[in-house]
Amino acid sequence: MNSEQFRAAAHSAIDQIIDYHDNIESRRVVSNVSPGYLKPLLPPGPPANPEPWADIQADIESKILPGITHWQNPNFLAFFPANSSYPGILGELYSATFNSANFNWLCSPAATELETIVLDWLARLLNLPECFLSTSKNGGGGVIQGSASEAVCTVIVAARERYLRALAAAGKSPEESEEIVDNNRSKLVALFSDQTHSSTQKGCQIAGVKHHSIKVTGSATENYVLTGPLLRKSLEELTAKGLHPFFLTVTLGTTATCATDDFASIASVLKDYPNVWVHVDAAFAGAALILPQYQHIPAPFENFDSFDMNMHKWLLTNFDCSCLYVKTRKYLHDALSITPSYLRNPFSEQGMVTDYRDWQIPLGRRFRALKVWFVMRSYGVSGLQGHIWNSLRHGASFAQWVRDRSDIFVIVAPPSFALTVFAVKSESREESNRLTGIVYEAVNADGQIFITSTVIDGIYAIRVVGGGPKIREEVLKRAFDILVRKTEEVLKAGVN
Ligand code: PLP
Repeated sequence: MNSEQFRAAAHSAIDQIIDYHDNIESRRVVSNVSPGYLKPLLPPGPPANPEPWADIQADIESKILPGITHWQNPNFLAFFPANSSYPGILGELYSATFNSANFNWLCSPAATELETIVLDWLARLLNLPECFLSTSKNGGGGVIQGSASEAVCTVIVAARERYLRALAAAGKSPEESEEIVDNNRSKLVALFSDQTHSSTQKGCQIAGVKHHSIKVTGSATENYVLTGPLLRKSLEELTAKGLHPFFLTVTLGTTATCATDDFASIASVLKDYPNVWVHVDAAFAGAALILPQYQHIPAPFENFDSFDMNMHKWLLTNFDCSCLYVKTRKYLHDALSITPSYLRNPFSEQGMVTDYRDWQIPLGRRFRALKVWFVMRSYGVSGLQGHIWNSLRHGASFAQWVRDRSDIFVIVAPPSFALTVFAVKSESREESNRLTGIVYEAVNADGQIFITSTVIDGIYAIRVVGGGPKIREEVLKRAFDILVRKTEEVLKAGVN
């Protein structure tokens, strides 16, 4: 494809992308193809000779779109959102254009420097404590990772190294230090509540450390929150067994019910356990911190070691863009920095620059800061706040409609951050679980809206979450009416 062919192809692709976005509501939100649908539609191998773009582009509509679940469709109310925006798409386009690998500053100074700048902008916007800024005296800062899972795995490795190095310092010789590390490595244990996203457990599996899940309880009026006293009990039990608690994930916006752990009481307990690295997983709900009413939440984070939120979930930035902040970047370097001769350069050697390869698992990295910059400038703080505020307003309306139909629905956990978790009302838990399951399956099979379910403490529940920029109150009301209709049908069939 030469430049003139690219110009024509790109114009045509952009037109198709705009049409896709403008008409997305007319598409069935969830793909209903059967597994293996694509293979019979494609030839057994690549074409022997070049094909014109028009033929390739035509296959988007006929072969790919049937297998797409439309996350940008306002009828997508499942999982958590994955916002896309035109400025975000433009950021991806330029990133693909430069296609630099960006592992060291020298690979493209703009990529590194823009990332540091926009992550400091974001930290201020989220009202994170000063210690997470790149300019902080303690040597903190932010880095864009591919996902919240990658971020937590990265900080588990840093925490493990920090803990083991502290133990090793007690050795009187290198051999003794090595022996201490060898004897204790298998005793390291990470903690989290049973509502914490599974990515922390996966990170522990990758890092080869033990993990311990703390059971939390909740109800329609009290969310499933990890508290200081619950944490203390587990810390004492694990320590009594000779284990070394070294890491804790706390969550702002758990996946099932969007609970916010009790950060202040957790921070107070951890004064007695200063070697535990605390990571705040705010993957979805962290975006809400840009609103004034939530800006008090991050104050206790100054006692913690790392914080992560996904701009690619609820903050209008295309996937992937997980923003990880650490209080002391040295600990990432200690765990992850290796400098073979082919990565050496005078700027890095003299410590004049940031090399983000030392803050992450992979070496190469995409120029993701561009889309953050484009999004922040195109929307402005007021536009970003307006988007989050709209989602919260719509979420509150939805929760109220559910409450208003207390004859058929029960709220399972307090509605939080645009998420409502509810079940079909019934005399017994078993019957409620059965009926909720039937309603859930029937609504998704019908395909007008897409929702997810969850099981909390043995309760089978439906999760409805907004957050997409195209969601409007009337779209959510229609979704609610679909849920009511299906529930009434199921209840009627159950009674007869
Ligand atoms: N943490 C929480 C609270 C989540 O809800 C999710 C996913 O929804 C994750 C982590 C994992 O996110 P990612 O897909 O960026 O790894």
